[in-house]
Amino acid sequence: MSRIWVLGAGQLGQMLKHAGMPLDLEVCPVDIESEETFPLQPHEQVTAEREQWPDTAATRQLAAHPAFVNLETFPILADRFTQKSLIDKLGLATAPWQLVETDTSAEQLHQQLGERVLLKRRTGGYDGRGQHWLREPGLDAIPDDWHEQAIAEQAIDFDEEMSVVGMRGADGQCFFYPLTLNLHVNGILLGSAAPLARLAHLQAEAERMLGTLMNDLDYVGVMAMECFRVGDHLLINELAPRVHNSGHWTQAGANISQFEAHLRAVAKLPLVQPTVKNTSVMVNLVGTERNDAWLSVPGAELYWYGKDVRPGRKVGHINFCLDSHADTKAALDQLQPLLPVNYVQVLNWLRSQLD
Ligand code: ATP
Ligand code: MG
Ligand code: MG
Repeated sequence: MSRIWVLGAGQLGQMLKHAGMPLDLEVCPVDIESEETFPLQPHEQVTAEREQWPDTAATRQLAAHPAFVNLETFPILADRFTQKSLIDKLGLATAPWQLVETDTSAEQLHQQLGERVLLKRRTGGYDGRGQHWLREPGLDAIPDDWHEQAIAEQAIDFDEEMSVVGMRGADGQCFFYPLTLNLHVNGILLGSAAPLARLAHLQAEAERMLGTLMNDLDYVGVMAMECFRVGDHLLINELAPRVHNSGHWTQAGANISQFEAHLRAVAKLPLVQPTVKNTSVMVNLVGTERNDAWLSVPGAELYWYGKDVRPGRKVGHINFCLDSHADTKAALDQLQPLLPVNYVQVLNWLRSQLD
């Protein structure tokens, strides 16, 4: 049995571990706060389920291991300044942006980027945390401790949000899942659907963009690229050098999930184009208590992360990949009364994608 260490022991690490079992890969997620020493062997690979980490005994040990896959990529993508600079360097489309420097004012940002400007902390933000809107020229200011610590982006009046999850082997071969349509509300992903025939014409563009990035970084494993669709064009929103929430549907909807794909790449096992079944949908469970009745809904595949439930915290997800769109809609109808009323928005949105 070969062993793969994962820096981070959240739900992504747990789902990597789950995906390793059929391949007899022993996946060992490591809590980033741990003060233990781990028995890493020189030939064992190390990967990560997060793009940045605090300096602890555990992260120091793992990050110092010679077989830490993609080690150089993490600092580049974990800082929005270097990430956006890379996207620009490669000539890929992204929301116009600039660094918030010591002497940058809100006025200058409005002048250069427009009426609505989104400040994003360079590091540490997720699920929409670490963002600050400048909405009204003349009325708003950059918060004091955001100078040098943030980038400013033009607000994009996008049609919808989507992502592509790709994989690259050590030999440079790349494969991609079909584009995933995503609903984010207040910066947090609530639901996804893939594949959708109406997005197929954007697939080649998405693959070219993510493929260019992965090749430039000489990346190995799964990477996700979040995009805005504006008409027939994609703008890159952000990149994640890891398995990604918008790829969770692949657990139900593809013969190789994103978790297995990542492990195969890291373990230098063969990669192939995953085959994808019917349209899958994923409902994220955010700040919601577990309800075992979800399991009575035909086709529901529940992943419950076993975390304390707190408002705004991702605590699980439910995948569906059924024979027909009608069956999926019927399942969502059955699920609706078993979820808090605020899920109506995402369930309606998912149903509307299946018309
Ligand atoms: P994640 O949890 O996906 O890592 P995050 O906190 O890192 O999210 P982003 O993905 O950069 O943040 O932004 C969160 C959401 O905010 C996006 O999905 C989108 O809905 C909105 N958003 C981000 N950038 C822009 C922009 N330039 N214009 C308009 N909306 C934006
Ligand atoms: Mg992010
Ligand atoms: Mg995002």
